[in-house]
Amino acid sequence: MSGADVEEQLRESGLRVTRQRVAVLTVLHDHPHTDTDTVIRQVREVAGDVSHQAVYDALRALTEAGLVRRIQPTGSVARYEVRVGDNHHHVVCRSCAAIADVDCAVGEAPCLTPSDSHGYLIDQAEVTYWGLCPECAAAAAS
Ligand SMILES: [Zn+2]
Ligand SMILES: [Zn+2]
Repeated sequence: MSGADVEEQLRESGLRVTRQRVAVLTVLHDHPHTDTDTVIRQVREVAGDVSHQAVYDALRALTEAGLVRRIQPTGSVARYEVRVGDNHHHVVCRSCAAIADVDCAVGEAPCLTPSDSHGYLIDQAEVTYWGLCPECAAAAAS
């Protein structure tokens, strides 16, 4: 993802192109599922001195515009990613909190279809798989 692509994405979403937004999007493209503090640290590495507030504002604008998805597994701080729109799920390590993407099992996951929708128009189901990542499982076994 080049800087030009990121700027294009911002323009297509009707957002003003700012140094902070370009930096936040670029960081999230390279590091999915990143929490706010880490985004701030990495944005400063690529864009120099940027305030906490500027990063918060950029994350909020990008999330509202649908360019960024905010996820918050139970017991975790909010994390952000640029893979949006496919309602994919996540697997979270109970030990080190590493997160990986799990594609949605469309039509084959009975638990995603409510037994009774109560007339609601359902457009999203939250599924989080919990366990141990390969590193932590290996460490636990040894
Ligand atoms: Zn782990
Ligand atoms: Zn994800």
